[in-house]
Amino acid sequence: MLRAKNTTGLVFFPAFDWAISPTHPEREERLLYTQDQVLEEGLLDIDGIVELKPDIVTVEDINRVHFCVPDAEAVTTESHFISAGGAKTIGKAVLDKKIERGFALVRPPGHHANRVVHGARGFCNINIEAVMIEYLRATYGVDRVAIVDTDCHHGDGTQDIYWHDPDTLFISIHQDGRTLYPGSGFLNEFGGPNAVGTTINLPLPPETCDEGFLYAVEHAVLPILDEFQPELIINSAGQDNHYSDPITNMSFSAQGYARLTEMLKADIAVLEGGYSIEGALPYVNAGIIMAMAGIDYSYLREPDYNPDHLRQPASIKAEIDKVCEDALKLWANRHELTQALRSRDGSDSRSRQIFYDTDNILENQYETIRFCDDCAGALRIESSSSYGANILGIHIPRKACQACIDQANEWFDHGEYGNFSQIFLQDRVKDRYLIK
Ligand SMILES: [Zn+2]
Ligand SMILES: [Zn+2]
Ligand SMILES: [Zn+2]
Repeated sequence: MLRAKNTTGLVFFPAFDWAISPTHPEREERLLYTQDQVLEEGLLDIDGIVELKPDIVTVEDINRVHFCVPDAEAVTTESHFISAGGAKTIGKAVLDKKIERGFALVRPPGHHANRVVHGARGFCNINIEAVMIEYLRATYGVDRVAIVDTDCHHGDGTQDIYWHDPDTLFISIHQDGRTLYPGSGFLNEFGGPNAVGTTINLPLPPETCDEGFLYAVEHAVLPILDEFQPELIINSAGQDNHYSDPITNMSFSAQGYARLTEMLKADIAVLEGGYSIEGALPYVNAGIIMAMAGIDYSYLREPDYNPDHLRQPASIKAEIDKVCEDALKLWANRHELTQALRSRDGSDSRSRQIFYDTDNILENQYETIRFCDDCAGALRIESSSSYGANILGIHIPRKACQACIDQANEWFDHGEYGNFSQIFLQDRVKDRYLIK
């Protein structure tokens, strides 16, 4: 009998009762074809590959990560609780050492959900990876985590949540934001003043093939991961880089995804996007599962696979090389850049507008971070939406120093109720969430 080299856990949650609309590409068939493929290939008959049933996350799990307006139930459905729950199941099983690695094949996805949630962006309401990670930190004391986002779209929500956190390395490889939603994810986005360099973006040109992706993994992602030394590696495993994906313009194959998975050695993979429902997802998912389990994937081929059509144009190779080189430079210079960033601004605030394309909401945000060398820094967010909500969110980071705790409490105590419809305190030191 075939035996997996690494014990690998799988969770399936297709979310039958949840869809943006019946014909929307983000629908339950995304996972139904994969489930069929996994059964047909006999992957669940392999010794060492096990199926687990998803947990349901709690409101407390969500409140460790998000400021949901007006609350978590209002911006989610039960499917979101189970989708994040599927990620949590895999995380728990890995930390409990029941499995060595695992893949949460769940939807709805999460990586476009920011810290503040007024509604859905890019089909995402809550950030399922972040909810899982903060649960693992609160429960198992996990500290340093790396998230490698290999979805074709920039993982802007995950970037936002970990922007100020020096203990979470976020690396996103994606199609250049000048050519694809959400239009962000450039090299000059490399983390806030307390976490410079722990956000790394690798924007790749349209039509990047296996060759270019794997080059970026080998020459930028792996060396940075190696130096960061995370306790856990999480892969936001979006599959919309596939050559047949209808909403993107990349040329990655199932073999390429399997090889990437083998190189990355993620402890946990969580499904994100991927909309080539019949042509790609079953093959890419099977490839990822086989690579995680450490079994041979060399015979895996999409029915219409034609390597001649997937040769990388010579003109874009130089572009990819340059992106990798620049990312490594940023990473190497992060300490110098910290000083430059703090003195250049003299200020610790930023204003932004965030558009919730799925729900058609416009958010105005004004964010203040306390410069801190001892922790991730007290964070204050004023946020108003085009629906009339106007909230103040205060975040005390997990390993906050006393000065940041004092600053955050002062912000919370002095937040004028009349100016805001709600005032939240997300206190990660005491693991509590207060609303006034
Ligand atoms: Zn991505
Ligand atoms: Zn995507
Ligand atoms: Zn501090």
